Amino acid sequence: MRIEQELKLGFKDVLFRPKRSTLKSRSQVNLTREFTFKHSGRQWCGVPVIAANMDSVGSFGMAEALAKYDVITAIHKHYSLQEWQAFVQAADAETLKHVMVSTGTSDADFTKMQDTLALSDDLMFVCIDIANGYSEHLVEFVERVRSALPDKVIVAGNVVTGDMTEELILAGADIVKVGIGPGSVCTTRVKTGVGYPQLSAIIECADAAHGLGGQIIGDGGCTCPGDVSKAFGGGADFVMLGGMLAGHKESGGDIVVKDGESYVKFYGMSSKSAMDKYAGGVAQYRAAEGKTVLLPYRGSVEDTIQDILGGVRSTCTYVGAANLKELTKRTTFIRVREQENNVFGKES
Ligand code: 5GP
Repeated sequence: MRIEQELKLGFKDVLFRPKRSTLKSRSQVNLTREFTFKHSGRQWCGVPVIAANMDSVGSFGMAEALAKYDVITAIHKHYSLQEWQAFVQAADAETLKHVMVSTGTSDADFTKMQDTLALSDDLMFVCIDIANGYSEHLVEFVERVRSALPDKVIVAGNVVTGDMTEELILAGADIVKVGIGPGSVCTTRVKTGVGYPQLSAIIECADAAHGLGGQIIGDGGCTCPGDVSKAFGGGADFVMLGGMLAGHKESGGDIVVKDGESYVKFYGMSSKSAMDKYAGGVAQYRAAEGKTVLLPYRGSVEDTIQDILGGVRSTCTYVGAANLKELTKRTTFIRVREQENNVFGKES
């Protein structure tokens, strides 16, 4: 047994130190970034925020709505090939360039992923997603996908440390997805005791990935626009959001009416709700590692995404960053014991 003594940080442990700025307005901040990916050589330009591949977030409706803001949607893996066909036929090229095709790592997943990607050349991202990215099986699967699809952008995860980030990039991933345990409907830390505070995970994995010419996605744990900024400030190239984009008209969850109020059911992809829906229940050998919550229905996602992007633009003006790359360079975090003043509770 060994204990690492260095304190690891989450979003709530820090704030940005403001810096002298020549920017006069948030409108001078540009949130689009351009990437050329390491293995695929593909180029992509857009706002590097991603709706999570959860079945009540990463829906086709979400992709249509967020592409207008140049934001990506990782489509959840439970759509059939027929549903994908209909979506690809109806969507324009710009929308398809803002979509990730999610997949697990079974042989059936591999075949379905290939059939889905074959529907359009504009589908350029594949997101290979398993809860425990430390499995050797993931590395082998990434190698297999890389050799079958040399010109697709491969996202692989989830991991939280530099060593495994490097291994996935060397196996063929362009982008590594980072986050174990921080999610809003995740119970991994409670069920297993495993996890890593998300800001430190981002800082350490970004450093490892950038050293090899790869990128990372900070996935999970953002509860407010300030957290999204902190993820970018810590070095995340992309930030993935589940809970912050759930509960909307476009999210795809069922609306439930309770005591005259509308709610949307939101659940983790390893929750009992998800396993009942897709796997015929929780298998005997495992425990659910996600929970189910009812969120107040929030209407269209457009107001929410504008609020998030507006918040990140504002962070940039406070630290004098004209774009996201400069935000990381101009970030000094101060460690804190307090965040917001909550004396009046939530806004009414
Ligand atoms: P959020 O933005 O809601 O805090 O986090 C979203 C992320 O939580 C997802 O992208 C995914 O990585 C993770 N996640 C989703 N469902 C589950 C689950 O059931 N269990 C765990 N451990 N993580 C989940």
